[in-house]
Amino acid sequence: MSKARKSPRIEKAIQFATAAHEGQFRRSGDPYISHPLAVMKIVEDWGMDEDTIIAAVLHDTVEDTSVTLQDIKEQFGEQVAFLVDGVTKLGTARSGMRDIDTYLPQTRDNLLRLLVATGSDIRVLIIKLADRLHNLRTLSALPPDKQKKIAKETLEVFAPLADRLNMGRLRVEMADIAFSYVNPKRYHELADIIEKYNLSAEKTMQKIQKEVSEALGREKIKFQISGRVKSVYSLHKKLAKHNQNMGEIYDLTALRIIVNDITDCYLTLGIIHSLYMPMSGRIKDYIAMPKQNGYQSLHTTVITKDKKIIEFQIRTHEMHEYAERGLAASFYYNEQKLTENYKTGKIQHLPTNLLWITELQETAAKLRAGKKIDIKKLRLNLFADKIFVYTPKGDIIDLPKGSLPLDFAYRLHSEIGEHVTGVKINGKMSSLNTKLQHGDIVEILTSKNRTARESWLLDKIFTPHARQKLRAQLSRNK
Ligand code: MN
Repeated sequence: MSKARKSPRIEKAIQFATAAHEGQFRRSGDPYISHPLAVMKIVEDWGMDEDTIIAAVLHDTVEDTSVTLQDIKEQFGEQVAFLVDGVTKLGTARSGMRDIDTYLPQTRDNLLRLLVATGSDIRVLIIKLADRLHNLRTLSALPPDKQKKIAKETLEVFAPLADRLNMGRLRVEMADIAFSYVNPKRYHELADIIEKYNLSAEKTMQKIQKEVSEALGREKIKFQISGRVKSVYSLHKKLAKHNQNMGEIYDLTALRIIVNDITDCYLTLGIIHSLYMPMSGRIKDYIAMPKQNGYQSLHTTVITKDKKIIEFQIRTHEMHEYAERGLAASFYYNEQKLTENYKTGKIQHLPTNLLWITELQETAAKLRAGKKIDIKKLRLNLFADKIFVYTPKGDIIDLPKGSLPLDFAYRLHSEIGEHVTGVKINGKMSSLNTKLQHGDIVEILTSKNRTARESWLLDKIFTPHARQKLRAQLSRNK
């Protein structure tokens, strides 16, 4: 996404930061400005908006130079100043989070804590992640004790954060660099295992790739196929889970197939299963049931004719973008929609993974404003398991576990919620007290003549979102 020609505002920010950091150097001996420029390049590549790019260039000016927040506000506007302030406040994740305890002693949820600390704009965290990524890439210049500290914090806070934002590529790079500093010996052992395995599997992989490509070609499916190499840190974690038993690791090598649409995903799965024997219990449909961070794909592990075990991951181009770039991709495709969503409260069908972030940002904003939040409800909404239910048309709506039909209706649209007369769950008329289950198909029945009822507040509403919408309608109708 990086353009050869930068906007005049970005050019101005580069000059401004270069002047501010004049005479400062990094440990490596490079001029300090090389760091903000590299961070800028990263958020630019992630496809972030102009304010975020500018804030990335300026992110260390307030902390490390004589530039003030007021200067930035005057030169680059309120939004940029707000973002820079957030990054500055965060400092290191630890000190930032210690600060949050004032607001939120009850939760250990790092993402929410960081959002509260930074003024509840997720873009601050994006800049912070880019900042951390560049610091990791240049970590060799620091003394060993600092290296270890930064690496450990990365594994504990930032890599999981990238995962929660479904930024797969970032998570892998961060975790692998960090792990190589935290436990260099183990890192090299495992990297070695992966490399040897890949070398030994190369011939088989080529053969399978050819077989699959031909079969897909016969069915006229358009596709891209490539090998995906398992990251060192994820192998380390998986081995820890399986008592270091390599025999339990089936996805050391995987083939990834990217197709045009969801129908082709399932067709491709069928074709693969007609070629090779699927291992039972290892078919995972993350399309129908996305992971909590919004990750979607079909996974299957098969046994080939010559008894080789291999995993396939099948997804559409769009799912691939989300899996690799996550929240950043969402910004790129949905920047417009996201702002709209914020203003109107309208729900978007895609991507579902944005909704919880919006929810989280709103919660963080409330907490910062000193508003009381019912932590128990908040927990239920943000941290407990989500369920995924379907509209009759097949759109997926994610809701917190325990949600009721009216919660679903208000999520579709507050006007739908207002006029509910009944609900069909999986085709059967059901009561409005019925707890929705994962996978339910929910059809809301409405009538124009019905309006919202106060009694619903008692036992027919579970989510704060629906409660808030209902309250607004009740007070309007008074
Ligand atoms: Mn920095």
